[in-house]
Amino acid sequence: MDANRDAREAAAALPTGSLSKRLDGGVVTPFDDGYAEARRVWNGLVNEYPAVVAYCESVDDVRVAVDFARERDLETAVRSGGHSVSGSSVVSGGLVVDCSRMEWVRIDPEERIARVGPGTTWGTLDRAAQSFGLATPGGVYADTGVAGLTLGGGTGYLSPKHGFTADNLREIEVVTGRGERVAANADRDTDVFWAARGGGTPGVVTAFEFDLHPLDHDVGYFESWLPAAAAGDALGAYREYQRTAPAESCVFPYLARVPTTAEFPADRHSDLALCVAGVYAGDPEAGRREFEPFRDHPDAFAESFEAMPYTELQSMMDGDFPAGRRYYWKSVPLARLDDDAIAELRRAADAAPSDLSTIVVWPMHGAVGRVSESATPLVGRDADVVVNVEAAWDDPTATTENVAWVRETCDRFRDGASLPGTLPNFAGGRASDADDVYAANAERLRRVRETHDPDGLFAYERR
Ligand SMILES: Cc1cc2nc3c(=O)[nH]c(=O)nc-3n(C[C@H](O)[C@H](O)[C@H](O)COP(=O)(O)OP(=O)(O)OC[C@H]3O[C@@H](n4cnc5c(N)ncnc54)[C@H](O)[C@@H]3O)c2cc1C
Repeated sequence: MDANRDAREAAAALPTGSLSKRLDGGVVTPFDDGYAEARRVWNGLVNEYPAVVAYCESVDDVRVAVDFARERDLETAVRSGGHSVSGSSVVSGGLVVDCSRMEWVRIDPEERIARVGPGTTWGTLDRAAQSFGLATPGGVYADTGVAGLTLGGGTGYLSPKHGFTADNLREIEVVTGRGERVAANADRDTDVFWAARGGGTPGVVTAFEFDLHPLDHDVGYFESWLPAAAAGDALGAYREYQRTAPAESCVFPYLARVPTTAEFPADRHSDLALCVAGVYAGDPEAGRREFEPFRDHPDAFAESFEAMPYTELQSMMDGDFPAGRRYYWKSVPLARLDDDAIAELRRAADAAPSDLSTIVVWPMHGAVGRVSESATPLVGRDADVVVNVEAAWDDPTATTENVAWVRETCDRFRDGASLPGTLPNFAGGRASDADDVYAANAERLRRVRETHDPDGLFAYERR
């Protein structure tokens, strides 16, 4: 199958010229010079050929694009930050509604509310909120989009204290698959609002509104690097620590190869290691004391503690996940990080086909578990930790083995103390079945989608 040729044929059959005239942002089709750029997303594994990319600059543009798709029964994907791991924001032969130009942020410091356009990235929202000493829990990577991350739940360093990103959502404005403009919140169009808090939306979100929280001081960041041989004991100690971890603390150990940089001893470079990393969102000096149990480990070959502005923390990983590399990620919530799970972490990290891959243990204590599993589509809130298996590789011929490594590792965790469901933002590809991701909430989510997108325009979006 020649996807490029199919996209050209699909585009040739559409009145894309008249669509372009009706959009402030215009369109790009396979016949245009900018097509290679327009169809590209962050994950180099994704190689889709849309018939038309509609650049929307306003709500009116979004309505025009959605009407165009509905009238022609076009499969439709929505793109905002373009960092979907699964690549669900671009669709071969269909329409991409690109919201990346709808980037705006309005902060109300009195009411502690942020209103945000769908094209906004976390770096932009964090900087705007921090200029008033405020923040809302977002992802850990400045370039990711507020839109996709929120609609898939959203975990970050502030989640133990303030919950998932979606738990801090107050309202969304949406153009639904029916072409209706809806402002959904806890009192109005409650089904659309419920779905948006982690389950996506049967349409295109044109504005988000979030609660903000005071954060007017530096935060603490800690790292301790240990040889992989010490990982078992260190993860056991982490399990004990998590039993009483305060909400300010977000400790996330990960297994990775030691970076080949000057901060690390040359004789450790590229070795498999466990990094016990932690953020303390309270007074950094209290953080220094809080991470005492992890400090001065006899086997540690690198250790650091820094106080830094929250915006710096949020940009710390910039460059670690370059666009164009191939990625496949999947996660499993674990009721407990038992000895079998720890042994599996070690085994899986050893077996990773690519040295660029990591396995992250993400904490789930605090505010996340205080929201009921019926309040939003997100399940697994009772987990102790979520294990994120994150494959990254450059060699295009190594895809099969890397994807298999992630899937097989997650299947092994599924045999143990795992809970149903998974984090939608790390669900492992577009083919993910809603039942696998949302478990007991999948049916309710399906009903919301069928009501507001009866033609299944956005069925492609289901993650
Ligand atoms: C480097 C990196 C780091 C990450 N770190 C975290 C993290 O710390 N925490 C976390 O929770 N996740 C994290 N993620 C996962 C991330 O949240 C998802 O990939 C998310 O989908 C990215 O959002 P986006 O807007 O950039 O993506 P896009 O590719 O633009 O969109 C992804 C999906 O979101 C939906 N969507 C986007 N915009 C709209 C809209 N306007 N209306 C309706 N639906 C829309 C669509 O279904 C679309 O397919 C990370 C991803 C990357 C690549």
